[in-house]
Amino acid sequence: MKVYLDNAATTPIDPEVVEAMIPVMKESYGNPSSIHNFGRKSRAIIEKARKKVAFYINAAPSEIFFTAGGTEADNMVLRSAIDDLGVNHIITSQIEHHAVIDTAEIMNEKKGVKLSIVKVDDKGFVDLNHLEELLEENKELKTLVSLMHANNEIGSLLPLKKVSDLCRKFEAYFHSDTVQTMCHYRIDVRELDIDFITCSAHKFHGPKGVGFLYVNENIQINPMITGGAQERNMRAGTENIHGIVGLIKAMEIAHRDMSEHEKHIKRLKYYMVEQLQKVMPEITFNGDPLGDSLYTVLNVHFPNSEMDEMFIYNLDIEGIAASGGSACSSGSNVGSHVLNHLGVDMDRPSIRFSFSKYNTKEEIDYTVKVIKELFAVTV
Ligand code: PLP
Repeated sequence: MKVYLDNAATTPIDPEVVEAMIPVMKESYGNPSSIHNFGRKSRAIIEKARKKVAFYINAAPSEIFFTAGGTEADNMVLRSAIDDLGVNHIITSQIEHHAVIDTAEIMNEKKGVKLSIVKVDDKGFVDLNHLEELLEENKELKTLVSLMHANNEIGSLLPLKKVSDLCRKFEAYFHSDTVQTMCHYRIDVRELDIDFITCSAHKFHGPKGVGFLYVNENIQINPMITGGAQERNMRAGTENIHGIVGLIKAMEIAHRDMSEHEKHIKRLKYYMVEQLQKVMPEITFNGDPLGDSLYTVLNVHFPNSEMDEMFIYNLDIEGIAASGGSACSSGSNVGSHVLNHLGVDMDRPSIRFSFSKYNTKEEIDYTVKVIKELFAVTV
């Protein structure tokens, strides 16, 4: 049996998305910047997609900029906040995705921007009192708060509205990396009153290498990638038109079926928690899986056993794809900056299982059975 439980790293593309992309690749080859009919058709496709994206997050089309994914969009926010908005202080957390935390550290080293790290508790929840203290202590500075909506390793969620209210109170800019939550929850940028959010299509059954950045209309930033007038001068380079079409198709499907998928995936996650606890009562979980937690992610902290580092490979041999509780790109939990920061015992293996609409109860049963057998052999 092949079981894919690494959907926080990336999701399989939806066949409906592929169907939507194929005619664009075959027929809509005009460069969207060309003024002839071929070009104008491509331009129209992109602008239609932009309008739809804006509709789903309750933004204006002029606030949406297509990018080559989440990492680029996150970089754009942090870099342009400093270069164009006069930000001289970033508040972030130690458990952000590398696209944010590494960039913040680079901005600190290279541009002398002050970097404040807000405390998170042992389940990965941001300490809002500490955030307020940091904003208060630094109110003379121009601050950007960058905190992710859901942690990609352990799933802990941030109360976006509470953070945006705090940011407004202290006139700080607020960016949230919504890469793991976009299309899993409804996001309304007007209601949230947020300055920047970032998105990546491959996290919700869209294609890889395409995403978008939302920038509130009251904010003017300059491009990070220069050399062309695309994206209204904000992101140079010929547009990834089939990728954009794939993104919006995936977004449409996700919004069409969201409550059904949420119910299905939550049921699988809770079922896996229950089954794991039944077969291995010593198991614990990183984060707060049954609390305020992204329903697609379950990070399991296993007891010590001889296989330790081999665990993820043993699962792989049995056809189960999961991730070592660390960054999306890695297969091992060695050096997970998130788990390390939360003080998780790294001698015990942590595995991130992440689910999608395509997973089934049978796959969970199989996975739990394999885990039980692996431990029975090695403990
Ligand atoms: N932000 C978060 C929270 C992620 O999980 C990822 C995943 O890789 C990214 C950013 C990067 O997105 P992309 O793969 O589109 O560059």
